[in-house]
Amino acid sequence: MPTQDEFFMEQAIALAQQARTQGNEPFGALLVRGGTVVMTGENKIHTFSDPTYHAELGLIRQFCSEQRISDLSEYTLYTSCEPCIMCSGAMVWSKLGRVVYSVAHEQLAEIAGGSIMIGSAEVFAHSPHRPQLTEKVLNEQGLKVFDGYSF
Ligand SMILES: [Zn+2]
Repeated sequence: MPTQDEFFMEQAIALAQQARTQGNEPFGALLVRGGTVVMTGENKIHTFSDPTYHAELGLIRQFCSEQRISDLSEYTLYTSCEPCIMCSGAMVWSKLGRVVYSVAHEQLAEIAGGSIMIGSAEVFAHSPHRPQLTEKVLNEQGLKVFDGYSF
């Protein structure tokens, strides 16, 4: 029986796979409130020719805009990979309650062949708002999405 975090992470990883199939980078995310998925997102940088269209940032923007809210303190965001510095920033500014990720930023750096700025914990540590952080859920499964992928 998967835990609730594993249950939602499995869907975030499936979205990452879907993004890859669509010709975008393999990252997916979803937003949950009270045990219910309220929105899903995936990387669409190539679809929209928007290098900032990461799964997490796209999701936060679209959801807040549609709901006309700017406070996500009651929400949990599940993401297939640790959020980058830009998306971690968006989580701070939207006062996100909690973030759960699968693949860690050090692991991604190894896959992508170089250092990728800094991890989300470090961003949060220097921020006025600090989302609760749960790391490496379904880590092996998350890593599989990158099999044979080159950045
Ligand atoms: Zn990002």
